[in-house]
Amino acid sequence: MLVQFLGAAQNVTGSCYFIQTEKYKFLIDCGQFQGNSSEIKKNLEPFPFNPQELDFIVLTHAHIDHTGRLPILTRDGFIGRVYLTRATASLSEILLPDSGKIHEVECENENKKRKKAGLDSIEPLYTVEDANYSLSFFNPIVMGKEIIINNDISLYFANAGHLLGSTHVYIKLNGKILLFSGDIGTEHSQILNPPEIPTEADYIFMETTYGDRLHSEMNNRFQNLYNIIKETINKKGTIIIPAFAVGRTQDLIYGLKTLIEKNSTSDSLLKIPFYVDSPMAINATKVYNKDLEGVKENIIKDINEKVHPYEFKNLKFITEAKDSIMLNKNDKSKVLISASGMCDAGRILHHLKAYLDNEKTAIIFVGYQSEESLGRKIKNEDSLISIYGKEITNKAKIYTIPGFSGHADQAELLNWIGKLKKHPKKIFLMHGDLKVTQAFQIIVENKYNYKTYIPKLYEIVEI
Ligand SMILES: [Zn+2]
Repeated sequence: MLVQFLGAAQNVTGSCYFIQTEKYKFLIDCGQFQGNSSEIKKNLEPFPFNPQELDFIVLTHAHIDHTGRLPILTRDGFIGRVYLTRATASLSEILLPDSGKIHEVECENENKKRKKAGLDSIEPLYTVEDANYSLSFFNPIVMGKEIIINNDISLYFANAGHLLGSTHVYIKLNGKILLFSGDIGTEHSQILNPPEIPTEADYIFMETTYGDRLHSEMNNRFQNLYNIIKETINKKGTIIIPAFAVGRTQDLIYGLKTLIEKNSTSDSLLKIPFYVDSPMAINATKVYNKDLEGVKENIIKDINEKVHPYEFKNLKFITEAKDSIMLNKNDKSKVLISASGMCDAGRILHHLKAYLDNEKTAIIFVGYQSEESLGRKIKNEDSLISIYGKEITNKAKIYTIPGFSGHADQAELLNWIGKLKKHPKKIFLMHGDLKVTQAFQIIVENKYNYKTYIPKLYEIVEI
């Protein structure tokens, strides 16, 4: 059989494997390229197959860099099944139409510029309608059970602990076991069970995002956050936490709830309002309360007993835009958790516009800020920040708390791959910047004597 690497090869986005045998053609993941403009351009490259010829697609988890090119395939004629977990389906029902909306808006803005320059207009990568149509092909299956796809292929999902519903995918085909790690979670998640360690596979396709580093700050992340919030409240300031709406926001709420409730009832954090101001985060939190595969037992127990892990006394979810605007009409201390996580769009922008020029404000970053993002400029403490065409002086105190990543670090990756009963024929090292993946390759080969390979984008290998 042939495997072609259509994304996340010597890079971290666009995950997509195209597998061909004499009888079948299918994909594992169909992610969008993200990041700088040269990466984004790769989304326009045609697929090396006719979407109508694909038998099925498997999605490892709901992050757009693993799912975001699916609407292109369904629009262009794919009519097979998309296998995924129930939670991946529910979260993709939120994320894919949102991605369609972003493409529509970006295209509209680009076309305004092109019109002025006398150039032809362009079409969006896909629309909200295309994204909604792609959802109708979802075929959720459970984790931990072998599913027979046809006479020759079976599929098995194991918990990956990276995002709600995330899985490692095992495919049995032609007497071989192929394992696609998807993104590998960390053992430090408060919400998700740790990733399931593989014991057997012939070929492994493994992510290596953090193959060169250790997350030493993980254990202190919530205490650090708590301390900064407390310090800012004492100065009567407002705290703004830009957070990705799916995953990171729920992680923050649960971690804060645990700390606040552990402390005394007189805790000053109980006296100030916390707001989650992101409609997408509100919808995602509903999924976190509903689709519980891979979730820690204590959280499932809480949900069943209606203890509500993602709520606490002084936390309010803001749905209406008018209520979101009202949050900036008083200067009382508050905590605002809002999206987007990189400050490029969404309600976070008008909060930043209102509070960035106040030295009592704290902006706390708990996630990656890409090079060209507004979040990176604020994080770098640029003195002037342009929001909605207005230059705002950045007087806020800026904090970055590491350790919130949903990816395994080097030690966890080595642990994940280190329990195999016999050596796999080959391990393909994926989903990492080249230098990082090469650093991991040296370590994993020295430690376990495995045969590894770092493929190039669009390369085809025979296995
Ligand atoms: Zn991911």
